[in-house]
Amino acid sequence: MAIKTIKDIDVAGKKVFTRVDFNVPRNEQGAVADDTKIRAALPTITYLLEQGAAVILASHLGRPKGKCKEELRLTAVAEKLQELLKVEVLKSNEVVGPETEALAQKLQPGQVLLLENVRFHPGEEKNDPQLAQAYAKLADLFVSDAFGTAHRAHASNVGVADYLPAAAGMLMQKEIENLTQTLHNAKKPVLAIVGGSKTADKIGVIKNFLKLADIILLGGGMANTFLKAKGYQLGISLVEEDQVDNAAQIMREAADLNVELLLPEDVTVASAIEDTASAETVAADAVPADKMALDIGPQTCARYAELIDKAGTVIWNGPLGVFEVDAFAQGTIAIAKAVAASSAFSLIGGGDVVAAVEKAGVAAQISHLSTGGGATLEFWEGKELPGIAVLEDKKEG
Ligand code: ADP
Ligand code: MG
Repeated sequence: MAIKTIKDIDVAGKKVFTRVDFNVPRNEQGAVADDTKIRAALPTITYLLEQGAAVILASHLGRPKGKCKEELRLTAVAEKLQELLKVEVLKSNEVVGPETEALAQKLQPGQVLLLENVRFHPGEEKNDPQLAQAYAKLADLFVSDAFGTAHRAHASNVGVADYLPAAAGMLMQKEIENLTQTLHNAKKPVLAIVGGSKTADKIGVIKNFLKLADIILLGGGMANTFLKAKGYQLGISLVEEDQVDNAAQIMREAADLNVELLLPEDVTVASAIEDTASAETVAADAVPADKMALDIGPQTCARYAELIDKAGTVIWNGPLGVFEVDAFAQGTIAIAKAVAASSAFSLIGGGDVVAAVEKAGVAAQISHLSTGGGATLEFWEGKELPGIAVLEDKKEG
């Protein structure tokens, strides 16, 4: 799939409606708690400004559901962006309307305007063509750098492409290139790691990984459902009973396809998530009736690390334990270190697993940390993402 990028179009003197993903975590005072996503969009914004474009930025923040919510205004985001970009950031207090139109009209090459949280507008998530047209009226070109939203078809990342020439920003391009590399011509052996809490959300990904990967390592709460399918007793662990059949089915398919699907052989258990005092390591088939499996154990880590060391490609979604509590973060940290040390091409995607890898202090040694959660998962499920489809180069079609 060939996509058009900002390098393929002439942006000089143009107004560029640029969809970014500034959906950042905030602290209790409403300030930006983690500016990773804003930093990730800087190369595209800087490039556009240097090329002599005027940049109109649009993003969502949180879930205001089509209504203005004071605490979800992008004011703090604008301040943070201005600080990082070292260029004045003008801000409109509305999504579209007279104020936005006036600001956009006056905007000169080299200037930046940030619209209000696009999800304040009821038309945004409905991909309302009228709203898409209103966005298009502000600019000459559409650039999308919001990979994290690419699995949604909304007005500011999909609809607007009906009315303006579209191209991918640098972050979007990097995400697509790296993810595509894990799906096609990935260096073998391809090793996939899947963790996290919700089995139901991960079944589609594991199914697609059965076709792509030579080895699949499971961990986290999700693995409990698979251990249950093997007939083990899991005490009071998180187990999704309605997914046990799916898990059994996946294990049969793995055997048929000659994919090595590994489950934890030992686990760290405790009587409650915060109860680190009672934490102990037991065999995966010996979880006490009053305890829950909260992390993969050291034996499992050693076995997984050995396979990771020999992998050509590592793809990873979902932490392998309750990494938010130090006592149950050890497995995820050990595996993060193993991935960092391996010479494999490594791609890690998912909000929580990326946070865990950062906590482990090895983020710099990972080939690509994806900024997408749901978008990365859907990409790995083999689905077409609407936010990417609109960037396809139709000429080469
Ligand atoms: P990602 O954001 O990387 O896709 P998920 O959202 O699927 O990951 O899962 C992350 C959550 O899974 C974390 O909050 C973590 O505490 C939880 N988790 C991991 N292992 C377990 C476990 N054994 N029991 C309960 N919850 C777990
Ligand atoms: Mg998550």
